[in-house]
Amino acid sequence: MSNLKLCQGTMCHTYHTQDRVKGPKENKTNQTRRRSSFYYGNGNFCSLNCQNDWFNDFGDKAIDHFGRLTEPKHLTEENAWEKRQRHYSWQRENGEPRYFFYNGVTKEQRPLTEQQYDDSNYTLNTGE
Ligand SMILES: [Zn+2]
Repeated sequence: MSNLKLCQGTMCHTYHTQDRVKGPKENKTNQTRRRSSFYYGNGNFCSLNCQNDWFNDFGDKAIDHFGRLTEPKHLTEENAWEKRQRHYSWQRENGEPRYFFYNGVTKEQRPLTEQQYDDSNYTLNTGE
């Protein structure tokens, strides 16, 4: 029981499904879903509905807390690096590396090791 996560949806317990009905026979209630894992919202919600409910209730506060964008971001040479990989051998003619950085502004490519590809902290981007 302790390994189960609760759906963070603020209205989860109000949706009528058989799997939400829990408790002793004479005192069953509709309850928030509990599961070992969820698919939505980074593993916090049992459904898109529940994710949307949470966002409707708390989204504005969360955005204000972590910083609301007040000006548009710009894609520049400095922040346009993205990791890509070639999945098929026909994409790797002429010995091209499987993993590489691709700059969405300059179109430049730079080879990457698999370790660098998997390292989510590794980036060439220097600006936001
Ligand atoms: Zn839910």
